[in-house]
Amino acid sequence: MHKLVRLDHAHVWHPFTQMRDWLRREPIVITSGQGAVLRDMRGREYLDANSSIWTNLHGHNHPKLNAALKRQLGKIAHSSALGFANEPASGLAAELVKLANPKRSASSPRRLQKVFFSDDGSTAMEVALKLAYEFTRRTRGPKTKPRFLSLAGAYHGDTVGAVSLGHIDLFHKAYGGLLFKTDQVMSPYCYRCPFNRAKPERADARKTRKCNWECVGKVEAKCAAARKQGNPYAAFVFEPLMQGAAGMIPQPEGWLKRVTDIARGHGALLVADEVMTGFGRTGSVFASQTESVQPDFLALAKGLTGGYLPMAATLTTQRVFDAFLGEYEEFKTFFHGHSYTGNQLGAAAGLASLELLARSTSVAARATLEKALRRELKSLWSLSNVGDVRQVGLVAGVELVRDWRTREPFALAERAGIRVCEAMARRGVLTRPIGNVVVLMPPYCTTTAQVKRMAGALYEAVEEVLGG
Ligand SMILES: *Cc1c(COP(=O)(O)O)cnc(C)c1O
Repeated sequence: MHKLVRLDHAHVWHPFTQMRDWLRREPIVITSGQGAVLRDMRGREYLDANSSIWTNLHGHNHPKLNAALKRQLGKIAHSSALGFANEPASGLAAELVKLANPKRSASSPRRLQKVFFSDDGSTAMEVALKLAYEFTRRTRGPKTKPRFLSLAGAYHGDTVGAVSLGHIDLFHKAYGGLLFKTDQVMSPYCYRCPFNRAKPERADARKTRKCNWECVGKVEAKCAAARKQGNPYAAFVFEPLMQGAAGMIPQPEGWLKRVTDIARGHGALLVADEVMTGFGRTGSVFASQTESVQPDFLALAKGLTGGYLPMAATLTTQRVFDAFLGEYEEFKTFFHGHSYTGNQLGAAAGLASLELLARSTSVAARATLEKALRRELKSLWSLSNVGDVRQVGLVAGVELVRDWRTREPFALAERAGIRVCEAMARRGVLTRPIGNVVVLMPPYCTTTAQVKRMAGALYEAVEEVLGG
């Protein structure tokens, strides 16, 4: 057995992994990467078809990001934000504020003006949650018990607060006793909508679909009921445009604007979890901007450093910030922080990544790649085990079913998604499924030829594993 495999098998516990399955085989051990390509210890090459779980933007081993990190490393790697300011963190905060407020005047109350740094998506959401909780108590009175509303299938991270906001039974049930209660409301999963029979598998889907926005009505009903009970929701928490871990579920045009207007109208703060959708992944820099939705909290992580280092940010308004101001002895301070908050290396990578993101060549490349992905995914409709193909920007989810006519799902125990991804790996394409949904999320540097290989591997894998 290779030494690296022996060490891994002896000591490393992998996330979201049945370790008994893991220990039965030799894992792919990644040793280097270049652009959209990953290389393993045996010299094999793979395409990184999910951007290393949704984190990588511009490709691996990028000369600009590498140079920015080396420059920063020549100065200092880390000093604490608890007690001290630092150069790259201040610069990154300013850039994030600029990006989050396109065309918004400096005095607008909706302006996202303040940035709280943390380490990953879960902590960015914990920060938003705690701030929204405490802000609500300070504005509505200390007797208030702030309540939260989030979407069916929501995923906001794995720490206890973030899990409480989520609604994926498989991940969340076991920890029920640890969690606080939040309400959930129907999300617009059109392919399995109980109110109409949308037919995404047909080209004339939009015409045959009879949608009366029942899912929007559910949000209205929930918010109205909470208000009637005398305790309106403190916050509505959502992933804008596309829910990721729920199974790459896109929201129909207009849904986000409608539900956020309703929630806000009933007094809720808006918490946008853009951990997956941020930084151009869905088209606009932030997905909320596509529907002109300005949240009160914006959580960012994964792509913030271009996929290089763990760093996250929670943006919020001056109004929220001001509620935590006071004399020292009033103890209105936000008592929260992490050892690596505002880390210089992460911030330097973030600044370099944002610079790349803004380049006109990179904007054009993303548009070209998005079209190429759409074109390549079309062929999948001919497979009888493909029920739905969903794409928003550079995120795609392909839902596998027993038969596209009946839309009957595979039982989770059949591991259909996992087996298809294993067959893709044998073809040199790496990605992970979410249940029966196979994810394609190429880094922005992916060439059209590489996208073709990703979709081609998926096509062949479905044929090989499921029979068509
Ligand atoms: C990945 C993800 C998170 C959690 O981020 P981590 O960095 O894994 O803690 C939260 N929200 C969304 C939408 C995500 O995709």
